[in-house]
Amino acid sequence: MVSRIIPVDLFDLIIFGGTGDLARRKILPALFKRFCDGQIPQGSRIIGAARSDMTMQTYQDFAKEAVLAADDAPSHTAKVDAFLTCLDYVKIDAMGEEGWDVLSAKLDTDRVRAFYFSVGPNLFDDLADRLHLHKMVQDDTRIVVEKPFGRDLISAKALNKALSSRFDETQVYRIDHYLGKETVQNLMAVRFGNMLFEPLWNSQYIDHIQITVAEEVGVGGRGAYYDKSGAMRDMVQNHLMQLLCLTAMEPPAKFDPDAVRDEKLKVIRALEPVEPHHLVRGQYAETASTQGFREDVENPQSKTESFVALKCAVQNWRWAGTPFYLRTGKRLKARDSEIIVAFKNTPHSIFGPEAGQHSNELRIQLQPDEGITLKVTIKEPGPGGMRLLDVPLDMSFAEALGPDADTPDAYERLIMDVLRGNQTLFMRNDEVEAAWAWTDPIIQGWEARFDVPKPYDAFSEGPIDAMLLMQREGREWRKIAE
Ligand code: NAD
Repeated sequence: MVSRIIPVDLFDLIIFGGTGDLARRKILPALFKRFCDGQIPQGSRIIGAARSDMTMQTYQDFAKEAVLAADDAPSHTAKVDAFLTCLDYVKIDAMGEEGWDVLSAKLDTDRVRAFYFSVGPNLFDDLADRLHLHKMVQDDTRIVVEKPFGRDLISAKALNKALSSRFDETQVYRIDHYLGKETVQNLMAVRFGNMLFEPLWNSQYIDHIQITVAEEVGVGGRGAYYDKSGAMRDMVQNHLMQLLCLTAMEPPAKFDPDAVRDEKLKVIRALEPVEPHHLVRGQYAETASTQGFREDVENPQSKTESFVALKCAVQNWRWAGTPFYLRTGKRLKARDSEIIVAFKNTPHSIFGPEAGQHSNELRIQLQPDEGITLKVTIKEPGPGGMRLLDVPLDMSFAEALGPDADTPDAYERLIMDVLRGNQTLFMRNDEVEAAWAWTDPIIQGWEARFDVPKPYDAFSEGPIDAMLLMQREGREWRKIAE
């Protein structure tokens, strides 16, 4: 089944930070892919704007290298030259005057206009100011901002204030690329497009929910940034929180931006503060062949966590009594992200104790492959009595949708949504602030207690305390990459 491609309107997309790592690895390849699929109309312009001394030609060369290095580029190489004709470049200084008049002169007033702030948040204020000073903001102009959106509630409020003094909230698109993942949107389709699950989607039938975002990589070249951030700020406050919201939220009345975001916000506000004994922090140790976290961030005293596991509670009618367990970390056994909805055991087994305990489990897998699996209990085949067995009822999208099914990268989907003017999959200002308001006391508690993260073996399941967090309650994490 080939998905329908609806072209967006003619646009000017300006990428501030257009020579940076994010533009090279994600934004330009995503635009190229959409161009190849015919979603970007001829005549649209993508203008890189950054400090580097580049011409249009050298920027096109940079973009060519970037799109050809992308995973599925080989199937589209014939279209690279046509794509490059959309690209332009302006050397600009976000904090000075250089380049602004040149950029302004390039823009058309009668097309969609979007400014992608792919730069550090310290430049948001300057960019917002200069865009206004040079009268480049029209009523339907869109601003795209990347994470990190602050490092605590105070800084997030300051960023929101800087943006809201220049733009209406309907113009601001805060990216959390997890929301652009096909399976994350499928979570909403499965929940709200089927009669099957929603009646069971509550504490009466669900024992617990676990959300894992495991990475095999270490901090890589981001050591300096990561040492000041840690897993709580870098992953839990945004990505895991968003996954939790979509899993726990009430059905919105409509699939529209404010209806969806209102429901997500209610979930965050219903989160109880986390008890210290429901929190585990970890830091990966060195092995014979790999550096430990402290070497990676070049800080032998670092007390920053590369791993977090926690138990939390959404205190409302639907979820009272069903715990949510979240865990994320670097240098774990494998790259593996998933949401597990673990249903309760049947109230009584008619098959007797030898049949064992069995329960259903819905597994929504985000990485490395996307798909949904429902574990159901069946009779073990054979004449040997009534023994039970759990088997997966597999909803592999690739199989169900056929070989031509396309699973676009999250950035492809999200950038097209920006150009279409659809904010449903972007975080609203109050959502981000509520998430920080829940996260801040956790981090402040660690700081007040001079907490030192527990070391864990690289390429393991994380610290033993994370296992105990669930085992103490008769539950267990699904094994990473099982
Ligand atoms: P980077 O350091 O690779 O690139 C920064 C870009 O900003 C460069 O193009 C540089 O020329 C430009 N720039 C810096 N100062 C400028 C100035 N005064 N005027 C004009 N341009 C200036 O950064 P990146 O990795 O591309 O990240 C960009 C933003 O996206 C950051 O906020 C980062 O936290 C966020 N982000 C990055 C990733 C990623 O995978 N790289 C992922 C998520 C979020």
